[in-house]
Amino acid sequence: MGGAQLLSVDVAPLGVAPPDVAIVGCGPVGALLANLLGHAGLSVDVYDRETEIYALPRAVHFDGEVMRVFQAAGLADRIAGATRPSPYGARYEDAAGRTLLIRHGTEGPGPHGWSGSWYFHQPLLEAILREGLARFPNVRVHLGHEVRSVDDLTARYVVGCDGARSLVRRAIGSRQVDLGLHQPWLVVDLLCDPASPRTQALPLHSLQFCDPIRPMTLVNVNGERRRWEIMLMPGDDQDRLTKPEIFWPMIERWLGPQDARIERAAVYTFHSVVQEGWRKGRLLLAGDSCHQTPPFLGQGMCAGMRDASNLAWKLAAVLKGGAPDSLLDTYESERRPHVTEFIELAVRLGAVIQATDPQAIADRNHRFAKGTEMFDFPQPQLGPGWRMDGASPVGTIFPQPRLEDGRLMDEAIGQRFAIVGERSLLAGLKTTAVLLPGAGGDWLAAHEARAAILRPDRYIFALARDRSELLEATERALLSFDSACS
Ligand SMILES: Cc1cc2nc3c(=O)[nH]c(=O)nc-3n(C[C@H](O)[C@H](O)[C@H](O)COP(=O)(O)OP(=O)(O)OC[C@H]3O[C@@H](n4cnc5c(N)ncnc54)[C@H](O)[C@@H]3O)c2cc1C
Repeated sequence: MGGAQLLSVDVAPLGVAPPDVAIVGCGPVGALLANLLGHAGLSVDVYDRETEIYALPRAVHFDGEVMRVFQAAGLADRIAGATRPSPYGARYEDAAGRTLLIRHGTEGPGPHGWSGSWYFHQPLLEAILREGLARFPNVRVHLGHEVRSVDDLTARYVVGCDGARSLVRRAIGSRQVDLGLHQPWLVVDLLCDPASPRTQALPLHSLQFCDPIRPMTLVNVNGERRRWEIMLMPGDDQDRLTKPEIFWPMIERWLGPQDARIERAAVYTFHSVVQEGWRKGRLLLAGDSCHQTPPFLGQGMCAGMRDASNLAWKLAAVLKGGAPDSLLDTYESERRPHVTEFIELAVRLGAVIQATDPQAIADRNHRFAKGTEMFDFPQPQLGPGWRMDGASPVGTIFPQPRLEDGRLMDEAIGQRFAIVGERSLLAGLKTTAVLLPGAGGDWLAAHEARAAILRPDRYIFALARDRSELLEATERALLSFDSACS
């Protein structure tokens, strides 16, 4: 667990000033948020009831946008060294080997300046995020410290990154919206013998094996590690599923006990829910505490990381920059529709993978009789909030091209509002302005714009076609935030 300190202290002991932000939960979302807030110079207390990082198998994939958030936290190189970029997407095959669906992969850097898909071991990623906190004297980590009441926390704002059974959510009184999918699955990480011909024959892409007898997911994680997710079927005894005589026959068409050993296993019920009410006064939610995504897209944690990115700059703007507290109301209005789009797609994919009854299989065969369907990760527009009204791509994330000096765009900008675009439009502007060569300029031209105003999280506040549009949007965007985000 590296630099994360085990501190056993009372909440806000005498003589210690209350922090700007208390974070309940130091899972991936809480740890990332603490890094981003630490970077912004806020004082932060992070609490987790456990002393050790959660060891059972969960997330294995994050996308290029999330790597860009790690870049903002100053951790991209460290994380890139411990994860595996993959050019391969995912294939959905039926029992006869027919390809129903393909999620595209990306060769080389994608639009965010990083590979579009990364595979990893969640405990290792969380360890890096916790080690990152040691860089900030303004961030204090309290492990082995269960928060029993939010009233004990004296911070200006309290963020519940405390997972699916969130205490902070109960204090807010959020309302759960059920998006319909709840299904138990066995999740197993295997350590495979690299010399085994059967290991070598495993697919490099992710495989969703849509077999009505036993739906499964196979993921090439990294090194020797492969993930198997196996849907529970009626009559399964979940306590016996990892017994050798039950487990190995289920995957015998790929591997046997001579090729691999079980590293760890757990049964989870995959859920699809989103909460209404991510904020009440000084209490806020992020990550699984306010939404849960079935893992068919590898996007649940990613959504929490996007929450952290959205919330971090707003907390900094309010606490350090004099922005109005109402800015924090835009957090849920922007993020909830965005994450809902991912969850709904994961639910639709779940219907393809989890189909087991004859009518559902007949419907599926009819749908894919026309051939294989292709798709990408969605790139939804944020809901209404701190942006100009307008159609997408306003309210979507701007790409990250490389600049002429070789740097990635975000390195040149820093964590602040910025204007990117053509030289003639930017001349004389006081705010951070970056001239966009090549790919960035082409992107603007493709959207009939000559400049874009970017928020600190790189989402597009406004696009401008000429100088007067740019000046109007700049005035709306920057007046209250100039000092906040520089
Ligand atoms: C099988 C499976 C596969 C998945 N695959 C992917 C994937 O490939 N990609 C992806 O993006 N997502 C994936 N996910 C989802 C991902 O694992 C979760 O979304 C993510 O772990 C949620 O992070 P979190 O920080 O919000 O919550 P958690 O990881 O649950 O962390 C919450 C933390 O809060 C602490 N806590 C709770 N209550 C208190 C309290 N009262 N006081 C102090 N501490 C407290 C807990 O100890 C815990 O450390 C998968 C999930 C599963 C189950």
